[in-house]
Amino acid sequence: MSFLTGKRILITGIVNTRSIAYGIAQALYREGAELAFTYPNEKIRLRIEVLSKHFNSSIILPCNVENDENIIELFSKLAKTWNTFDGFIHAIAFAPPNQLKGDYVDVITKESFRIAHDISSYSFVAMAKASRKMLNKDSSLITLTYLGAVRAVPNYNIMGLAKASLEANTKYMANSMGPDGIRVNAISSGPIYTLAATGITNFKKMLSHCASSSPIRRNITIEDIGNTAAFLCSNLSAAITGSVIYVDGGFNIAHMNKLG
Ligand code: NAD
Repeated sequence: MSFLTGKRILITGIVNTRSIAYGIAQALYREGAELAFTYPNEKIRLRIEVLSKHFNSSIILPCNVENDENIIELFSKLAKTWNTFDGFIHAIAFAPPNQLKGDYVDVITKESFRIAHDISSYSFVAMAKASRKMLNKDSSLITLTYLGAVRAVPNYNIMGLAKASLEANTKYMANSMGPDGIRVNAISSGPIYTLAATGITNFKKMLSHCASSSPIRRNITIEDIGNTAAFLCSNLSAAITGSVIYVDGGFNIAHMNKLG
């Protein structure tokens, strides 16, 4: 038997087959989970209608997380099909494009700070708050973060602050929801060439730097993230909560590998 049989998981953040959330959906589906999907706007709806069929799902629901009502309506609509469910994948981030290049102090604005934190961090706990009563015991909530939360990475800028907030959010959510049997974790992914990543200046240079200097000497894939997410959604990880799990080929623990 596959280790996610009987689990119902809601997946956000697919925009195409390169999305990290798509890799997660593949692994969860392979392990027997039943899946539902969200899309942020009508433009992406058609794609999700097609992609959801890859997972034999017909549950696709609108949710732009910038809109509080959308988040509440997402779960009232989901409740019409699933009274209860076993967790969700939060694979959503956004910052205004002009923030992801140049000198951090020069480019930052108050409004971009608000937008990045709202969409990339607050939305995670907002989704948990709105769905709390529907979550079964042994549910698992997962978000995606990046090393830029704990190190100053060129051009990542405001997203680094938003990811730092998201990682703290993960810990506070885990502590709040643990007594209900709900676990909350973040996966810190190494760089992967997705649509969101193309917005970060010099992203391809980041990829080649990580491939050549991480302990496993390759870039990681959406399949690598998917397999970790499947484990974290399952009861195999029953005692792991509030953690930031690095799936980056060990890049975060290495230093000066290029010296050889
Ligand atoms: P992606 O472009 O495939 O996915 C980003 C998703 O965010 C899209 O589906 C987009 O529709 C969604 N989104 C943006 N604003 C939204 C809103 N207001 N409401 C609802 N959805 C919204 O890129 P990805 O790289 O797969 O990103 C998924 C997550 O992984 C993000 O949190 C990202 O920061 C994180 N991450 C990515 C990398 C990487 O190198 N690609 C590394 C570490 C972490």
